Amino acid sequence: MNLIVLGPPGAGKGTQARILVEERKMAQLSTGDMLREARRSGSAIGRTVAEVMDRGDLVTDEIVIDLIRERLESADSPGGYIFDGFPRTLAQADALGALLDDLDVRLDAVIEMQVDDDALVTRITARSTCSGCGEVYNDLTKPIPADGKCSVCGGTDFQRRADDNENSLRTRLMAYYKQTSPLIGYYHAKGVLSSVNGLGEIQDVAAEIRSALG
Ligand code: AMP
Repeated sequence: MNLIVLGPPGAGKGTQARILVEERKMAQLSTGDMLREARRSGSAIGRTVAEVMDRGDLVTDEIVIDLIRERLESADSPGGYIFDGFPRTLAQADALGALLDDLDVRLDAVIEMQVDDDALVTRITARSTCSGCGEVYNDLTKPIPADGKCSVCGGTDFQRRADDNENSLRTRLMAYYKQTSPLIGYYHAKGVLSSVNGLGEIQDVAAEIRSALG
């Protein structure tokens, strides 16, 4: 199965994608993670995107489409792919459609996670990520275990994202409504869209996604 998780920043896309990876042996393709990795490695792409990302704007379609193309052409995932944070524009959606056609791969579902804006600010300013494995924690809903060790990999270093602040969140939300939310209509018209309430407990949202996927 191949699917896209769509939703504003802080909706819980990454968290739900990781649950699907675990349950269905799918591969998570997160352009945000790939770009952060490019920054950490100090590559040319990393240097190009750093300022844009910190501001909360979208990087160019060309950069993210190339990243996804490379992954799809080099990796093999019998369980299928979860596209997390990609596509974010109509041009990216068209490019993904063409890539999947070329590879003879079907897009089975698009899950839209709905969360209201007030909840997003609270969630985003409370979140941190394990540097070792990328597990996402939240001071309010899923705190780092009391022994200070990541429950997945045992790591003890947790970081807040540079763009998880109120200023860049505002820019990221605007980018979502202007550039990404038209994809909801796009995938609805293609007959693959399901919308879930992303406000509930992590496991309740996962159950809703499970039933949407059938
Ligand atoms: P994310 O981790 O998905 O929230 O992405 C973090 C940042 O990376 C975004 O605010 C953008 O600056 C950039 N980014 C990630 N994915 C994309 C994409 N598909 N298109 C454009 N920019 C992206």
